[in-house]
Amino acid sequence: MMGEFDLIKRYFTPAAYPSGVLLGVGDDAAVLDTPPGYRLVAAVDTIVEGVHFPKSSSAYDIGWRALAVNLSDMAAMGAMPRWFTLSLCLPEANDPWLKEFARGLFDLAQAHQVQLVGGDTVKGPVNISIQILGLVENDGWLCRSGAQPGDVLFVSGVPGEAAGGLQVMLQQLELMPAHDVLQKHFLRPEPRVVLGRALRTLASAAMDVSDGVLTDLHKLCVASGYGADLHLECLPVSAELQAVFGTTQAEQLALNGGDDYELLFTVPRERLSQTEAAMAGTGVKCTPIGVMTRDMGVRCLRHGVVVPQTVQGYDHFR
Ligand code: ADP
Ligand code: MG
Repeated sequence: MMGEFDLIKRYFTPAAYPSGVLLGVGDDAAVLDTPPGYRLVAAVDTIVEGVHFPKSSSAYDIGWRALAVNLSDMAAMGAMPRWFTLSLCLPEANDPWLKEFARGLFDLAQAHQVQLVGGDTVKGPVNISIQILGLVENDGWLCRSGAQPGDVLFVSGVPGEAAGGLQVMLQQLELMPAHDVLQKHFLRPEPRVVLGRALRTLASAAMDVSDGVLTDLHKLCVASGYGADLHLECLPVSAELQAVFGTTQAEQLALNGGDDYELLFTVPRERLSQTEAAMAGTGVKCTPIGVMTRDMGVRCLRHGVVVPQTVQGYDHFR
């Protein structure tokens, strides 16, 4: 039987650390070097079986997702993710499961050059928590509160695909190519770190979309003290989503589906052309979907006509 110590040593002790890690896994805490000219950016996100991912998810996908949702928070701040700690609560020390979990986790960690520097390992119902630490230049970071009336509202990628993918999984629909595309969006979100970095000095406000475009836009508006008009005819809705769910439900998923981990951000008009160029450089498709308004609240319009919407974003306690 593998004990806690062996488990940590076997799966979660990196062979070597980059220069910023003065002390990593194995001591009571990690010691990290923060370079002058930068601020430390910290966030934590927990994923729970049956709440954030279905029981049928593979260990690889769970490992990927646990880190991806945290990297997405760094992206939203325009920060460079650097280090993370991992709190693992598992019912048993299952070797094949841990091996796959670690593979998913470290594949994404390597892609973003983030380093595991510590954690905690306990027995209990599946619950995986990652704290992420990143750096951002002293002269500014992105946040939710900077949007001004007239700023153009953008969303990256195609929102709704992840929520569609989750439904495909839960309903155990027979797998067709379109289903596969959606499911992959749910299981392997691609955190928009590069886009966040490109937007750092250009966007006036930003956040990541975890609970649904409408709900999260509402949060951005409240933080900024203004409202927004969202033009439904501009909202990108993927062909796969429409193929599987039909046009109406696909639009609803794009508006209210969670788990996309795309970025929602606002750009002042005078910085639009510079921002278009910066976005093009990242290779991530971003679409203008609306404009910030002086009036509070989020309004949805289709070709100029107001379409009442019920916000259905995710809330754990509602
Ligand atoms: P402590 O006695 O301080 O509670 P632990 O015995 O829980 O420490 O952990 C020993 C070392 O292993 C610590 O450096 C801790 O950060 C690290 N660690 C524990 N679990 C994990 C994990 N899941 N991933 C990475 N590091 C871990
Ligand atoms: Mg200790």
